[in-house]
Amino acid sequence: MPKKNKTVKSTHSKQSSTAKYIYAFGKKSDGDVSMKPLLGGKGANLAEMARIGLPVPPGFTITTEVCTYYYEHGQTYPKTLDSDLRKAVAEVEKQMGKKFGDSKDPLLFSVRSGARESMPGMMDTILNLGLNDVTVAGVAETTGNERFAYDCYRRFIQMYGDVVMGVQPRHEGEHEPFDELMGKLKKERKAQDDTDLTAEDLKELIRRFQSLIKKRTGQSFPQDVYEQVWGSVGAVFGSWQNERATVYRQKYNIPVEWGTAVNVQAMVFGNKGETSGTGVAFTRDPANGEKVFYGEYLVNAQCEDVVAGVRTPQPIAKLAEEMPEAHKALLKVCRILEKHFRDMQDFEFTVEEGTLYMLQTRNGKRTGLAAVRIAVEMVGERLMTIKTALTKIPAESISSLLVPVFDLRKGGGARKIASGLPAGPGAATGKVVFSASKAEELEQKGTPVVLCRVETSPDDLRGMIASEGILTSRGGVSSHAALVARQMGKVCVCGANDVVINYSKATLTAGGTVLKEGDDISIDGTTGEVFAGHVDTAPSEVSQVLDGKLKPEKSYTYQLFDRVMKWADKHRTMKVRTNADTPAQAKQAVALGAQGIGLCRTEHMFFEGDRINFMRQMILASNEKDRRAALKKLLPFQRRDFNGLFRAMGGRPVTIRLLDPPLHEFLPNDNATIKGLAKALGGSVESIKDRVAALHEQNPMLGHRGCRLGISYPEITEMQARAIFEAAAQVASGKKRVKVEPEVMVPLVGYKVELQNQIDIIHRVAKEVMAKKKVKFKYLVGTMVEVPRAALMADEIAEVADFFSFGTNDLTQTALGMSRDDSGSFLPLYKELDILPQNPFATIDKNGVGQLVEIAAQKGRAKKGDLKLGICGEHGGDPASVVFFHGVGLDYVSCSPPRVPVARLAAAQAALAD
Ligand code: ADP
Ligand code: MG
Ligand code: MG
Repeated sequence: MPKKNKTVKSTHSKQSSTAKYIYAFGKKSDGDVSMKPLLGGKGANLAEMARIGLPVPPGFTITTEVCTYYYEHGQTYPKTLDSDLRKAVAEVEKQMGKKFGDSKDPLLFSVRSGARESMPGMMDTILNLGLNDVTVAGVAETTGNERFAYDCYRRFIQMYGDVVMGVQPRHEGEHEPFDELMGKLKKERKAQDDTDLTAEDLKELIRRFQSLIKKRTGQSFPQDVYEQVWGSVGAVFGSWQNERATVYRQKYNIPVEWGTAVNVQAMVFGNKGETSGTGVAFTRDPANGEKVFYGEYLVNAQCEDVVAGVRTPQPIAKLAEEMPEAHKALLKVCRILEKHFRDMQDFEFTVEEGTLYMLQTRNGKRTGLAAVRIAVEMVGERLMTIKTALTKIPAESISSLLVPVFDLRKGGGARKIASGLPAGPGAATGKVVFSASKAEELEQKGTPVVLCRVETSPDDLRGMIASEGILTSRGGVSSHAALVARQMGKVCVCGANDVVINYSKATLTAGGTVLKEGDDISIDGTTGEVFAGHVDTAPSEVSQVLDGKLKPEKSYTYQLFDRVMKWADKHRTMKVRTNADTPAQAKQAVALGAQGIGLCRTEHMFFEGDRINFMRQMILASNEKDRRAALKKLLPFQRRDFNGLFRAMGGRPVTIRLLDPPLHEFLPNDNATIKGLAKALGGSVESIKDRVAALHEQNPMLGHRGCRLGISYPEITEMQARAIFEAAAQVASGKKRVKVEPEVMVPLVGYKVELQNQIDIIHRVAKEVMAKKKVKFKYLVGTMVEVPRAALMADEIAEVADFFSFGTNDLTQTALGMSRDDSGSFLPLYKELDILPQNPFATIDKNGVGQLVEIAAQKGRAKKGDLKLGICGEHGGDPASVVFFHGVGLDYVSCSPPRVPVARLAAAQAALAD
């Protein structure tokens, strides 16, 4: 079985006085990149960057074990932590040549959270810590820059007041209270930008900030610098379990036990004038993966200005003009980072009076498309091996190369009204909404929406999840909207400056067009275009190539897709089949790489045209004669369907499941249908109603279905077997002959004798058909394993079966005693309460249902060494489940056609992890 995630829990039990809770980075670094579980991603990478000689301001990391300790001990710290922290501060003081709390030239710190995996915007950072009414004067004095000193101080009070002391908007609609005071002062002073405020203005602002804090909390803003440190550390740990972080952790299945680390780091300043600045950058374009230095920066600013979108940042290319030295240094840093971390990096930097400092790096979040492109190109640049590339591309991301694109030929009256940054590729069309709550509300009604905001914040997360796409009028590639879109694979256009969004009027204006809430809007996250109205979509470039409508050499996206799929096929050992019921589906799946059909649901073939009437006639028949008459009419349809399917699959194996569904799915339930049926069948309305009532079941999922039908009505099995074998005979002979080897599958078997009963009929019919048509063909007869009894008795059942196919949908239903159709009413709560963090119908419940699969596989193979094993439930297209099935030793997984590429990649990843 796959390895379980190791949690910090296993190591943190030792709380002896010798435990190391604090790790330094800087001139000497205690940690390194391998220590993410303990130091968090930020802390581990800061240490690593310092180790390889990049300019990192010194500091130290308080470990995630302290976070766990904090929550397990009523929000208190280990005894030694205070003295350890003072020692660590002393070390930084030594390196910086400044003292913390010093009245003349004080050392200032940032306090930053840092979980094992980055959680953008989830935790709060505090900058300029160590300033108070006294030290601020010292800073003003030593830097000779009074304005700078007071600007830092007002920022610190604002962040501390918000994050630690909880001075925040008290209700929806209220402005951020510190921003409000700032705005008011700017108005009084007739200042355009923050930078127009003088030192004297800022002093006034600081007085107002402090009195706001006092008024709201009854407490004074703390002047003691260690009190400031502990307040901030506590706030970081506290934020690990705030609502935002909790929502995020649930979405990404991050265990609460992991905890966060706290990084305390010497400050450097991007707000010291025109030779200073700050920015964020990527070593490649995170939206489309192109190899260009990508990012943005602001001159004379502190970092949070960039992320918060207070001022619109400049594209990084402009830095080459404004600060050529720094730009050159950054390009060099890009090369060093990629060579060292061997992946695209997303980093933060600050230039203080011409000197470059690195404040963070991590493997950059990227869109699915970018993930594929970066991996493929890095293999070309010898930065990655093919194997690494395969493991680096999340299996899911290959599907983003297959999403539809806008079909502008079919404009449908839509007009382009603006454009912005293409931050999340794909095409999204839906109703304009301006708030996260409205987005959720409409989404629940099944209405697709596009969330339109000036900019987004973590509070919009739920609404973003609910939306087809996200449009913002402000903010750049590192804005919250772009970050989240990259991670969630959402279509996103951000910073569309020509769009004016007015929340109070609920309008969006651009290019002379005014859209109201509920109007149609379409956004193209690949090009950045925004359209008023609804735009139709067309198949992806990959699909167009596969359909022969586009030449492979014309589509780079296709080439990327093809490369990755070829690599995956070379490394995987498990086959990938598809669930398909029609020749069209089968062809599509083969084009996407399916190696056979793992499940053809024959009942789906009966929904078409007037077949449904014959089907109903068959079900409603009250005696064998009538039933045989109806079946006779169905036979030619089935034979033709199978013929088409066999041909479409061109010799690949095809598993056909005999009639399975609960019959009520086919029964007429409204008067009009019953009347129509009576007319078509020449019976009375009453007699049909009686028969429908007689067939009614309390619990159809566990009722007269699966092999129980074929056993009660052998003529059904007989007809289906005949259709299959006659089609096989047709296809295997004649001019355009195709190799066929049908695999007939009996559903819902729990007992060997049930299977034996059906096998006898199937063999008899096969013999008859071969004799009559004078052809020989091979075929297999096997069973679904989809009730626990079949799994437990697999050795016995294997005596008569040629193959097993795990029907993990029903196996999950029957093992958990949980109806897939009704679980929607409690599964969300189960997820929230962490009872079932994963939907067991989407990702296999490894420990329970998975164990049944393992037992059946082992027992079956012990009895029959060459027993073919596959899985045809929904789980066949879920990467995590595919990895599990590989571990169990299945021969193949089968999934819906569009999931085939995902399964191919996941199977390769599973094989590589062995
Ligand atoms: P997040 O994880 O939300 O990005 P960070 O801890 O990285 O939060 O910090 C937020 C901002 O503060 C970043 O832009 C970062 O560069 C800046 N920052 C953090 N530490 C320092 C420091 N020591 N000196 C200057 N700026 C800093
Ligand atoms: Mg950061
Ligand atoms: Mg089933």
